Amino acid sequence: PSHPGEESPPTPPIGRSRATAPVPVVPERPLPRAVAPWVVALLGGGSGALLTVAVALRSHATLAEIVALVGVVCTALVTVACFRTVKVIHIRRIEKVRTQAQTGRVAGLLESARGMTAQNSEAAVYEQLKIHSELLVPHDHFELAVFDESGKLAGRYSAAGIIDGYNATPTDAELTVYRSGAPIFEDGSGHTPLDVAGGASTVRLEEVRDAHIPVYAGEAVVAVTTIRRRHPGYTSDEIDALATLCQQGGIAIGRARLFAQVLAAKREWERVFDATAEGLALIDEQGRVRRCNAAFAGLAGMSLGSTIGQDHHGLRGIGIAAGADCAICNTIRTGSRAERVIQSAQGRVLKLTLSPYPTGGAVLVAQDVTAESQVRGAEQQLFESEKFAAIGRLAAGVSHEVNNPLMGINGLATVLLEDPAFTGENREMVALIQRESRRAAQITRDLLSFVRAEDGARGSISLNAVAHEVVELRAVAQHSAGITMTLDLAEDLPPVWASRAQLVQVVVNLVTNAEDAVEQLARREIRVSTSRSGRKVYLRVEDSGPGIPEELRARLFEPFFTTKAPGKGTGLGLSLSFSIAERHSGSLRAENIPGGGARFTIELPASESRAAA
Ligand code: ADP
Repeated sequence: PSHPGEESPPTPPIGRSRATAPVPVVPERPLPRAVAPWVVALLGGGSGALLTVAVALRSHATLAEIVALVGVVCTALVTVACFRTVKVIHIRRIEKVRTQAQTGRVAGLLESARGMTAQNSEAAVYEQLKIHSELLVPHDHFELAVFDESGKLAGRYSAAGIIDGYNATPTDAELTVYRSGAPIFEDGSGHTPLDVAGGASTVRLEEVRDAHIPVYAGEAVVAVTTIRRRHPGYTSDEIDALATLCQQGGIAIGRARLFAQVLAAKREWERVFDATAEGLALIDEQGRVRRCNAAFAGLAGMSLGSTIGQDHHGLRGIGIAAGADCAICNTIRTGSRAERVIQSAQGRVLKLTLSPYPTGGAVLVAQDVTAESQVRGAEQQLFESEKFAAIGRLAAGVSHEVNNPLMGINGLATVLLEDPAFTGENREMVALIQRESRRAAQITRDLLSFVRAEDGARGSISLNAVAHEVVELRAVAQHSAGITMTLDLAEDLPPVWASRAQLVQVVVNLVTNAEDAVEQLARREIRVSTSRSGRKVYLRVEDSGPGIPEELRARLFEPFFTTKAPGKGTGLGLSLSFSIAERHSGSLRAENIPGGGARFTIELPASESRAAA
């Protein structure tokens, strides 16, 4: 390993096995006991004194000489014992300090474990590793070499932070040693790596200056921590503490990498979610929006924050029908797929696709299909108008051609009837010919008026007034048929620019059709309502009848299409009403009411907007 301003050591040996066992160091001697010197002094002093007395007695020494000799021997022994005791006390005190340091280190390691595993970013883990290694094993230099998932050096981290490219990339040989996962110890010479796993069974820690400790995440070495002391020497406790710290660091780095991966995957999905043009939402089992994308919040006409947690019935812009008709409630309850096309509060046409969510709730995809439906509507209208124009031309030609012979038949019948001699059964037959030819002439006239649809005088009229007039016109007939008709008219309805007579004719057509639909039923109700939305004014006729069978829907506005008995219906009412609505720049729509019955809606532009146009 290299450091700033220093020579790189020669290539260290390659191919070490991963060292997981604690670092073997020179074994320490057991602690001496404080009583030991005194036992030695007592035994030594006693035997020395006895020996002295014996020698003195043999050489006839005086009592004073013997006492002096014994005193000298005992004094010497007590002095030695005192020195030994002082030394033992000193060693014990050092050991006590060491034990305290070790206890402090254990507490420090616990603290560092807490500090590192609380970090979600790798850089924060490096920082913690740096701080705690400094606290546990004071040193003069710290460095961390970090490897990426493929084992390449991703960067180096020093006390000053990330130091990409700092002091050149380590050599391949250095990297191999690093990745081998063995701790490496170097002495101060910078030439001999004092590694423990390469063959030598012990390392003299007091000679070590640089310690390189691997940091594992699972099986892979993700980093190598290097610490340096200017004055060589570490204790085995310090190295053990550093190894444990690096082990914790590895777990924390692994965790931070996993967190980063999960976060990146989450962000990626969120970006995909938000980039989708369709509104996407996950609705929980309680019917609340658990998650949604920006497009969905846009369709709901709300901010993303307020959309999340909102009950789906409260999504203003989307306006999902409540009650038994609610497709979302149905999907949550039954787990079935559903599709609906609805009109949003902002007048957009939305296609809602619902799928059940595997663990309950529903996934809602909302697609704005306004443009497509407008194109479809315009195509349909074009088709209808062209069809009507063609039918009109045909009808006009036929009426004109049929009218001439009819006039002839009628004229000749009149001549015959003017002859008083022409009597009996023959006269009655000619009278019938005259009546029927007049009726046929009336039909051709009706046809021509339908085709030309002479506009009649137009003025600013209120659809509410039209509704009132129709009530009066139909009151007697409805009373005798037991039909109840209710009016639900908007108060602030703007006027429309129209022919009052023609609009009355349209509403009478719709109301008489409704009367026919409910006539045979127990519940005979008709409701006429008016409303406005923006620059549009609406008049709706709804009935409690059987509704329009799906297969007849497409043919409803065709001239002469009728399901009524001959003589009762001509099949011209709806087609005439349709062309009148069109001539007023409006439209006529038919639909079934979800609860039952049919609804016909006339839509006309409000007259202010017409004036503005
Ligand atoms: P007619 O009333 O002479 O039959 P229309 O053009 O008015 O002609 O109506 C065409 C057909 O549309 C009717 O024969 C009937 O089948 C159907 N229809 C019209 N209004 C309703 C309604 N309110 N409910 C059910 N069907 C209806």
